[in-house]
Amino acid sequence: MSDLVTPARGSRNAGAGGVEAIYAEVRRLAGVDVVEEAPVVTEVGPGIAAVAVRTPTLPPAAHTACYLVGTGELIAIDPGSPYPDQHDGLTAAIAARGRLVAVVLTHHHGDHAGGAAALADALGAPIWAHAETAAALPGLPVARHLEDDEVLAVGGRTVHVLHTPGHAVGHLCFRDQESAAVIAGDMVAGLGTILIDPSGGHMATYLASLERLLAARTGALLPAHGPVIEDGPAKLREYLAHRRMREARVLGALDAAPRGAAELCALAYADTPAFLWPLAERSLLAHLVKLVEDGAAVTDGSEWRRARA
Ligand SMILES: [Zn+2]
Repeated sequence: MSDLVTPARGSRNAGAGGVEAIYAEVRRLAGVDVVEEAPVVTEVGPGIAAVAVRTPTLPPAAHTACYLVGTGELIAIDPGSPYPDQHDGLTAAIAARGRLVAVVLTHHHGDHAGGAAALADALGAPIWAHAETAAALPGLPVARHLEDDEVLAVGGRTVHVLHTPGHAVGHLCFRDQESAAVIAGDMVAGLGTILIDPSGGHMATYLASLERLLAARTGALLPAHGPVIEDGPAKLREYLAHRRMREARVLGALDAAPRGAAELCALAYADTPAFLWPLAERSLLAHLVKLVEDGAAVTDGSEWRRARA
């Protein structure tokens, strides 16, 4: 009998650098040029605007949309830019619409929370986020923990809070009740892809959160990266199908003899461009965690093989 074991569910000991380190490596491989330009403001619906601020995010995206929700009084969701040159444009866009009631975070990653402290300080607004997001950012003064199913009323909008973990444990989406548009954070991307990294993400949980958004009568999806996705349900189904396809390829790459991550990655992600390989390897590990949890694979922690039927 082999000594292959099943790791504990939700094991989070890998990838100590977190997604920020992976994004930085992908930016290096992609040779990203920084273009200094003022944030662009787009009206995306009644009482909702997107301010695209430059952020250290995952290429080909180079910006994070900070969504301003409400008129007269408003919340700002994901002011992600750590760059001072982006802050003036954002505060000007907020001032043009009214008084900032709160800075709100979808999750703790640097390209979403990177400008939260600066904006909160500049405009004297509190920071609201899920408790898990607050726990991941011990240096950030989070004044209010948002919970699943809460309803926020601000500046003429009614916003339903949905806890959608998987990309990050404290991930929240915000559904505008009137239009059914969902501010989706990193659940889906209008440009590029969403990384499920086993250091803080969990594939099965992410898939369940995609299913939940589908069941929540989602209209348009307003992603953190890229343009508005008008047919939200179609995009959610596409994401679910894509992840299932990839899981099937990872399963197909497993053999009766153990294989390492590099070999499995070459087999299951042969279609992925070279600049995304650091990402592919992390995604592969997230799929392998799920396959082990499902009883379809076994591992000794460094190699994986198909479970015996
Ligand atoms: Zn993220």
